[in-house]
Amino acid sequence: MTSPTPSSADEVVDLCRDLIRIDTTNTGDNATSAGERVAAEYVAEKLAEVGVDAELRESAPGRTSLVARIPGTDPSRGALLVHGHLDVVPADPQEWSVDPFGGEIRDGYLWGRGAVDMKDFDAMVLAVVRDWQRTGVRPPRDLVLAFTADEEAGGDYGAHFLVDNHADLLEGCTEAVGEVGGFSFTVSEDLRLYLVQTAEKGIQWLRATAHGRPGHGSMIHDDNAVTALAEAVARVGRHRFPIVLTDTAAAFLAEVSELLGIEFDPADPEATISKLGPIAGFVGATVRNTANPTRLDAGYKENVVPSQAHATLDCRTLPGQSEAFLKEIRDLLGPDIDIAHIQRQPAVETTFDGPLVAAMSAALLAEDPGAKAVPYMLSGGTDAKAWQRLGIRCFGFAPLRLPPDLNFAGLFHGIDERVPVEGLRFGARVLDRFLRTS
Ligand SMILES: [Zn+2]
Repeated sequence: MTSPTPSSADEVVDLCRDLIRIDTTNTGDNATSAGERVAAEYVAEKLAEVGVDAELRESAPGRTSLVARIPGTDPSRGALLVHGHLDVVPADPQEWSVDPFGGEIRDGYLWGRGAVDMKDFDAMVLAVVRDWQRTGVRPPRDLVLAFTADEEAGGDYGAHFLVDNHADLLEGCTEAVGEVGGFSFTVSEDLRLYLVQTAEKGIQWLRATAHGRPGHGSMIHDDNAVTALAEAVARVGRHRFPIVLTDTAAAFLAEVSELLGIEFDPADPEATISKLGPIAGFVGATVRNTANPTRLDAGYKENVVPSQAHATLDCRTLPGQSEAFLKEIRDLLGPDIDIAHIQRQPAVETTFDGPLVAAMSAALLAEDPGAKAVPYMLSGGTDAKAWQRLGIRCFGFAPLRLPPDLNFAGLFHGIDERVPVEGLRFGARVLDRFLRTS
């Protein structure tokens, strides 16, 4: 006698809960990060149980990523990369209503760090593949599964490490799906927009340095590096970069305006964005470059004027805007401030068309007759930046049906991160349909 095999929608909640219970906190510092090894070994074991071999690769002790390949029926087609990161940002238990690593189910939600970013999608992928392996389903093309380390700190120990050192594992991949997209925004009872990510902004983390004449803090001092830096940083922090409508943002706003029945003024896209309720947070920063001062560092003693002062600026650039942005920030900071890149990664952008996009739309519609897929740009960055280096066309499509009033954007890296249990099960069903037809 055999016990009934669970479907992917049955199993996805347990898998996600197990993954949440494995603390994979990434502080951005290997010395204090929990590492992804235990989670990667868990995923490897769940794949091995159904006959899928996985390759584990470690960039530093404990910083483990996993890659596995499921052969498709048509080897002549390019492979589809399905990727999710295993790490999570830190969570302070003092601030939470539940244990952030407890995986508690309460009020129809599965709670915990990583519930939406992005152990939910990791669990969906695992659930679908396990179900297929048990029931003999083969995908139309090779699927390459990547579960990565270090996405939350830029991916140097995860996706970029794989691209730099183990690109053979990703051979033949032409398209990719991962975060952040595929979630719903309810317009009305019978219309839900599902935002598919087709672009993401570039990252420029800058270190700005002011120089001055060092000296005693008790004297009159008109060449103080701290003063110069503070003035420059304040100019950057208060500056609003001009609106630049990229193809993706224009397509998104035009489509959404029409569906919502609101006027779209290309000269004032923020008026449209302000009407988008819970998803405004996702799209608000996608019509201009941004630069936010995030760190300050100067001095070593109360009565010593230092010779240097430093600031870190987290800057995000629209596709095609990288050089124009740099010119503008140099002008803002002024000629006496030096800048150096701590991190520089280009924006990612593709078009919203082709068979893969059609498969996304069809899979959503089959599970939600009120679904309408629309393209959008993410203001943050993901592992797509690494895959893009291999010429892979990247989409954010981690399907989730959300309750109308949920502040989804606020859950990312937020306190009391949680995912609706029914949304998770919905996601597994959509992913199953999508991957069968991709
Ligand atoms: Zn993420």
